[in-house]
Parts: sequence; structure tokens; C-alpha cells
Amino acid sequence: MKLVIVGNGMVGQRFLEQLVSRKNGASPEVTVFCDERRAAYDRVQLTSFFSGKSAADLSLVPAGFFDQHGIALRLGDKAIAIDRTRKFVRSARGHELPYDKLVLATGSYPFVPSLPGAEWPDCFVYRAIEDLEAIRTAAGRARVGAVIGGGLLGLEAAKALHDLGLETHVVEFAPRLMAVQLDDSGGRLLRRAFARVIGSGGQPDFRSASAAGSW
Ligand SMILES: Cc1cc2nc3c(=O)[nH]c(=O)nc-3n(C[C@H](O)[C@H](O)[C@H](O)COP(=O)(O)OP(=O)(O)OC[C@H]3O[C@@H](n4cnc5c(N)ncnc54)[C@H](O)[C@@H]3O)c2cc1C
Repeated sequence: MKLVIVGNGMVGQRFLEQLVSRKNGASPEVTVFCDERRAAYDRVQLTSFFSGKSAADLSLVPAGFFDQHGIALRLGDKAIAIDRTRKFVRSARGHELPYDKLVLATGSYPFVPSLPGAEWPDCFVYRAIEDLEAIRTAAGRARVGAVIGGGLLGLEAAKALHDLGLETHVVEFAPRLMAVQLDDSGGRLLRRAFARVIGSGGQPDFRSASAAGSW
């Protein structure tokens, strides 16, 4: 049986571990497409990349895993089309692969609001090791960093910018930080606590939607 998996993130890798741990039945012929150029890593711990963890430290793949289990891993190759009638997956690099079973483990992408300028250089999303490498490079020639979004990831990103030595601003649409998780008083507490954390290298600046609108 030919099994094709699209995505080698945390879920795709966990699926492979479960698959190879099964003792019964014939082993399928497995191919994995991943549009990132490195195999699965711990995205939850991504921010620790800025505090000294390397890509290797974050890896979720034991050395030799793919070779040992005869799994073909196509890194840096995005699946761009699925033909469900002929049962083929086509990739950006022009591979056409037949499958009997297809697993989509593609995760999600950051939502980027359609703001003019969002596509300009030095605007980044915060999702992959490559994003953090690009942020670190840009921080080397920057003085001020702004994070759009005061949720969990936004605050992680803000702390990272602060640690990179930038004067850090957070722009939040809602009237408080982590608006989904916290009520007003919780939001106030968090804002004070966070200001203490990143306050030493530049005054943190939390702007609500109305303030941001006046820029
Ligand atoms: C900075 C950060 C901190 C986080 N912290 C937490 C946390 O504390 N707790 C928590 O529960 N969650 C957290 N998350 C979310 C968590 O990382 C995700 O829920 C988890 O990574 C989802 O795993 P996944 O395998 O489904 O997707 P992903 O890890 O996104 O992996 C999907 C992979 O598929 C690849 N892919 C997508 N489309 C294609 C295609 N067409 N062809 C080939 N490859 C493709 C992607 O590039 C990616 O490599 C955090 C996320 C980030 C970015």
C-alpha cells in the first residue's frame, strides 16, 4: 500500500511514530511531503530559539528515523494539487506520486489581516524557524519592533523582540491583552506584569484599536 502524508509538523511526525510502532500487518510504502526545509520540530517551544536553543535542539525526529523505517521524506517540497480520481499528489518540484491513502497533516497558517504594507520587507509572521531567523537578522539592523496581536503568540514575540534589544510595542485590537483568555481585571494584571518584564529596555506600549487607528 502506498501512503502519502502531506506535512511533517508535530502531528505528522506523531502519526509516523504511531505507524512504525505497529507490529501487525504489512508495512506501507510511505512518502512525506513537507514544504519546510527541515523535518518536524517542537513549534510550541519555538521561542526558545531566541534564548539559545538550536534547530537541532527543537527537533522531534530521532537521528536516522526516516532511513531506519524506509520513509521517503521530501523536504522543501510543497504538495500543490491532489487528484482524487486518479489518486495522485503533485508537488511544487514537479513530483507526481500515486497514493492509496492520503493523510493531510498540514497544520495551519498565521492569519495576516489585509493591511496595506503587510507584504513589505521586515514584516514577518511568527510560525517557523525560518521566520525567527529572519526576525533575528532584521533585528540586527533595527531599533524598534512592533508586534500586531496581543494574544499568547504576540506576547511571546514581543518578549523575543525585547530580548533582541529592540524597543518593543504591541498593538492589540481588543481593549486588553489575551482578550480571549482573560477578563478585564486579568488583562490589567497581565499588562502590568508584562510591562515589568519588557520594561527595562524600552517602554512597552500597548495600543488598543482606537489608538492604533490614530497612527
Ligand atoms: C510560537 C508558537 C507557540 C505555540 N505555543 C503553543 C502552546 O503553548 N500550546 C499549544 O497547544 N500550541 C501551541 N502552538 C501551536 C502548535 O504549534 C500547533 O498547534 C502545532 O504545531 C500543530 O501541529 P501540526 O502538525 O498540526 O501543524 P504544524 O506544526 O503547523 O505542521 C504542519 C506542517 O505541514 C507543512 N505543510 C503545510 N501545507 C503543506 C503542503 N501543502 N505541502 C507540504 N507541507 C505542508 C507546514 O509547513 C508544516 O511544516 C504554538 C505555535 C507557535 C507558532
